[in-house]
Amino acid sequence: MDTLMTHGFEAYVVGGAVRDYLLGRPVHDIDIATSAHPADVVALFKRTVPIGIEHGTVAVLSGGASFEVTTYRSESGYDDYRHPNQVVFETSLKKDLMRRDFTINALAMDRAGRVIDLFGGRADLAGRMIRTVGSPGERISEDPLRMMRGIRFASELGFALGQAEREAFKNRAALLRKISVERIDQEMTKLLAGQAVNEAIGLLFETGCIGALPFLEQAADRTILEKVHFSLLKTDAERWAAFLTALRIYDVHAFARAWNWSRSREKGVSALQKYDAVRKRDGWNPVRVYYAGRELARAVERLQAAFGRTDRSALEAMERNIDRLWQGCRIHRRGELAVTGNDLLKWSSERPGPWLSEALAALEKQVVTGSVANETEEIESWFKEWQRQRKPS
Ligand code: ATP
Ligand code: MG
Repeated sequence: MDTLMTHGFEAYVVGGAVRDYLLGRPVHDIDIATSAHPADVVALFKRTVPIGIEHGTVAVLSGGASFEVTTYRSESGYDDYRHPNQVVFETSLKKDLMRRDFTINALAMDRAGRVIDLFGGRADLAGRMIRTVGSPGERISEDPLRMMRGIRFASELGFALGQAEREAFKNRAALLRKISVERIDQEMTKLLAGQAVNEAIGLLFETGCIGALPFLEQAADRTILEKVHFSLLKTDAERWAAFLTALRIYDVHAFARAWNWSRSREKGVSALQKYDAVRKRDGWNPVRVYYAGRELARAVERLQAAFGRTDRSALEAMERNIDRLWQGCRIHRRGELAVTGNDLLKWSSERPGPWLSEALAALEKQVVTGSVANETEEIESWFKEWQRQRKPS
């Protein structure tokens, strides 16, 4: 900011950093709005990355940190609901703040730490309210993603959504269908991690936004969802698994396609759902913990507690129980078996076939539980016996 200002430009910290600073929350990235044009910014600093020149954004790397420096701008025309048709570089901070979504996100701070508050953002921070800058209806029609953002901030900050905003969301929820699923997913994932997620889910239903989200058109029954203790869950995958399970959505693959999830998110969520069902039905034993893996099994315990199936005060003991079962397993990966499929083939007169993977799976269970020692000779005699029992005499 000093560099920009000594060269005659204005510079302010804007948006989330000011909001979080005033709330005493950790500030994770710093956005700076300036009257300087991107070319000026690039010229003034040693290390810059043009992360969105057409939008006027340059990342400035300095003192081990990265600052997003954006030229004052205003936007007009949003008819594809994605990109403003026109980005007009503005010369005033006011116009830059006017285009921002919520009053609490439209605060600026100058170099001396003075807050510039043109839209009542500070009062809304104090009153813990999410309100749009200007008419909610107009601001949402400009960019319907703001509905998801508003509910996401309500979740993260534990704030209430203004009355006029609620009404506007209700009337325009269907516009969310025009927003790309990646951006919806980003907001939804953050929403699920918020401190007030249950209230935020209430808002999704109350405003009808939920029904405008991919695959959730039919979501109607929120009775289970409202009671989930999301705060016990640690990862995005755990929160998504809880969300889907509470809505009785079990086709994770179809959901993942509709939401354009990465393969790894899909795998994580579906493994959690699968072992959650196993745990609920059969409970744990060493072999099941072995197949799930320790981390997944512990995560499933968190899901149990989140659904109130085990008391939350027992969660630590449940996780320790997983550790105990895990430590009791004689091996922890198939690769730790003292033999390989090749050894079994060598000992057998049969040609390779489906029997081989059956044999390995059966052997694995025996070794995990210690019924067969993980030593070549013992395994060989177990295998010969296994073969004998399989063959019809
Ligand atoms: P966080 O980074 O903690 O999620 P943030 O407020 O920094 O919160 P960003 O998405 O990083 O949110 O956006 C930075 C700022 O840009 C916001 O504070 C807001 O002023 C503005 N902004 C972001 N998205 C929109 C939008 N869709 N419409 C209007 N203004 C927006
Ligand atoms: Mg941010």
